Amino acid sequence: MWHDTGTHAGIMPPGGPVQPYEHAENPETKRRIRKLLEVSGLLDKLVPVTATRATQEQLLRVHTRDYLEQISAMSAETGGDAGGFTPFGKDSYEIARLSAGGVIAAVDAVLEGTVRNAYAMVRPPGHHALADTGMGFCLLCNGAIAGLHALEARGLDRIAFVDWDVHHGNGTQAAFWEDPRALTISVHQDNCFPPDSGPIEDNGEGPGEGFNINIPLPPGSGTGAYEAVFDRVVVPALNAYKPQLIIVPSGFDAGAHDPLGRMQMHSGGYRSLTQKLLAAADELCDGRIVMCHEGGYNASTVPFYALAVMEELMGDSSGVDDPFLEIMSGLGGQELQPHQDEVIRRAESLLANL
Ligand code: ZN
Repeated sequence: MWHDTGTHAGIMPPGGPVQPYEHAENPETKRRIRKLLEVSGLLDKLVPVTATRATQEQLLRVHTRDYLEQISAMSAETGGDAGGFTPFGKDSYEIARLSAGGVIAAVDAVLEGTVRNAYAMVRPPGHHALADTGMGFCLLCNGAIAGLHALEARGLDRIAFVDWDVHHGNGTQAAFWEDPRALTISVHQDNCFPPDSGPIEDNGEGPGEGFNINIPLPPGSGTGAYEAVFDRVVVPALNAYKPQLIIVPSGFDAGAHDPLGRMQMHSGGYRSLTQKLLAAADELCDGRIVMCHEGGYNASTVPFYALAVMEELMGDSSGVDDPFLEIMSGLGGQELQPHQDEVIRRAESLLANL
């Protein structure tokens, strides 16, 4: 919560005609998730996993030494921008190391059997960060760093990423572009962020060819489209690849009313997708799922998405109803639409490459 993204107008630095406001990626959504877990009673039933800072060795599996030195030096002074749209304040580098380290700790806890699955409620987020630059509010590519830890320090051979953030998981894709040890799947809004990123055609290269799957859904897609993607592409891809661990870069910005996305998911949708992943993970890898928090910018609704996901991961119910669910599930276009079906059909053809 001490990671300071500063004064912005959503994503724009203020100045000239742009009146100062808050940055879209601020602590509030995350703080409110924790508060809802607390008042719902679920927090008491969770097993806390303590984060420690990711080491230089762990970070260098994804990032260049130059980039780490550059943001470390800026962080020691007053902060700055780690790349496109990635402002940070004093000491944010240390917090980013804690964020990456939190996902590593979650992976370790799951692999050691301390917990069956885990949700790493961390910030700053990670899935846009590249080897030599931050991007889209992300300083370090947390999920990829934790995944490479699982492969290189914990002896796993095959892991899978299922990224349901509304934006393309370009950082995770890049980290494993030529690496067959990870199946990287991103379900995102077509050409939302980064610009011109995440088309179906980007399927991996060299030894990694076939092991990157992008499903760029049209704006306006609702729970019906997401469920169809999981039934027809995500779960069959997991079944074909047989990962030993599933990491979910979990953004809640595909929710209806999110300021940085144009999709229509709701808590019932996130619940349903979690159930599908849990069923697949039970079959494939003893239920081993680690979710790491990414985007999600509507502070009112995001906590209820997280609560639904958490209830499913725990196999428990808090008894708290999502007050937004009725109005969101009634939004027009929640069912799978023909132009969305067409995209999913094209993505299904990628299964033959696995
Ligand atoms: Zn996002």
